[in-house]
Amino acid sequence: MINRTSNETPNASGNGSMNPAAMKGKRKVLIIGAGSTGLALAQGLKKAGINFKIFEKEESPIRKRNWSMGLHWGLEPLEYLMSAEILKQIEQTQVDPHVATKDTDRLPMYNGQTGELITEIKSHKFYRLRRDKFRAMLLQGIDVQWGKSVCDIVYSPGGERVSVKFEDGTEELGALVIATDGPHSTVRSLLVGEEAAKVTPIDYASTMCFTRHTREHALFLRAQPHHPLYQVAPHPNGYCAWLSLHDGDDSEHPENWIFFHYISFPEPRDEVNNRTMREHVLHQKELARQFVDPWRSVFEWMPEDSEVWYSKLRNWDPSLPEHKWDNRQGRVTLAGDAAHPMTFQRGQGLNHAIQDAYRVCKAIKSFWNEGDFIIEQRSAALQGYEDEMIPRAEEEVRLSEENSIKVHEWSKVMQSPSLRKGMQVDKKDC
Ligand SMILES: Cc1cc2nc3c(=O)[nH]c(=O)nc-3n(C[C@H](O)[C@H](O)[C@H](O)COP(=O)(O)OP(=O)(O)OC[C@H]3O[C@@H](n4cnc5c(N)ncnc54)[C@H](O)[C@@H]3O)c2cc1C
Repeated sequence: MINRTSNETPNASGNGSMNPAAMKGKRKVLIIGAGSTGLALAQGLKKAGINFKIFEKEESPIRKRNWSMGLHWGLEPLEYLMSAEILKQIEQTQVDPHVATKDTDRLPMYNGQTGELITEIKSHKFYRLRRDKFRAMLLQGIDVQWGKSVCDIVYSPGGERVSVKFEDGTEELGALVIATDGPHSTVRSLLVGEEAAKVTPIDYASTMCFTRHTREHALFLRAQPHHPLYQVAPHPNGYCAWLSLHDGDDSEHPENWIFFHYISFPEPRDEVNNRTMREHVLHQKELARQFVDPWRSVFEWMPEDSEVWYSKLRNWDPSLPEHKWDNRQGRVTLAGDAAHPMTFQRGQGLNHAIQDAYRVCKAIKSFWNEGDFIIEQRSAALQGYEDEMIPRAEEEVRLSEENSIKVHEWSKVMQSPSLRKGMQVDKKDC
């Protein structure tokens, strides 16, 4: 039997009596979460002329945590989603907008104990984006509903509609929900249950540090032979250090540059880390004494009262049988970190998130006809998205975990997926 959707009504009961012709084109996609995934999808739907609303639990675009991310193979799907006018600003969203992006780049990896170059991971065009600036670019022209934290989802019995409830007591009706609410997704909990939705820790942790330095020290940290933007250094004692520029906007004043650095370390997955902020800083400084420069000095020069954040390395594999969700005839699905949080050392989470947004956008376009559609088509389109996304994410969650483990095991560094496979992934259609 073919189910043509009845038009949306302004109340959640779905019994309203609006004229169908008047409602045509008013049916909408509901996006939960205005991070990179949700906003990239919003840009794609806007470009395609598809009605949508995007909801974000934070009250404003200012976020507590910031970091930098490498966008490489995710550029192609982003080009599909974004208007060229907005996307041309991407160079400006980089940690240093003054360093021209090359068509090919290299990610140097050093021995943290000796400073010897281990290898250079080759990459195609590689944008080192600052998360807040990238998000500001994606926000352009998008009307986000701020301060809307989703807490429940209700499905109409006939399969047509879905209603999202928010913590402030309001609700919104739509034709489908795309949950892009990040690594600790509430929608994921609603779909698979709270226990199954929990991220799985691995046996490593890190402490993220952001520091400013004197002019002389800042220039030293970026001096040759180091890459001007980033360097990674596994250490034979089982640690892995990262140093990158985080904010180089003020090219004239190196004393205003901000550097982002961490040393990740082994820590049993079930160990509860109770260090205070100062103890985290002292711990990082202690580890850094085993490293050569520039890692040693960047930690040595870090004030002891610096604000840092501790992070256990975690992931969630959407392909596991206990993680399988029912997409309710294509009315709800997950994308980005909500679908597949992964450990960050392989630098792939954002690239997959943009690929998800591209796939979801194409899936919606395939059945959306001015808001009118047949339920079976929606169902098949969203199933098609999940059939592609889940195995792709399964492989990446696994490779990223393997990578995070091997960069901490000296005898296995050379077999880590990033060295074996480079930054690219095998994609069938992009
Ligand atoms: C240190 C670090 C380095 C990384 N480096 C790289 C890299 O080099 N390359 C790469 O590809 N990836 C990298 N990543 C991964 C990348 O940052 C993530 O994959 C990406 O940011 C995920 O975006 P997202 O939009 O899915 O999630 P988020 O950015 O977490 O956005 C989710 C949004 O949903 C909102 N939200 C949450 N709950 C609710 C709710 N109940 N209701 C409404 N809204 C809600 C949140 O407030 C947030 O704004 C790195 C990650 C880290 C931590």
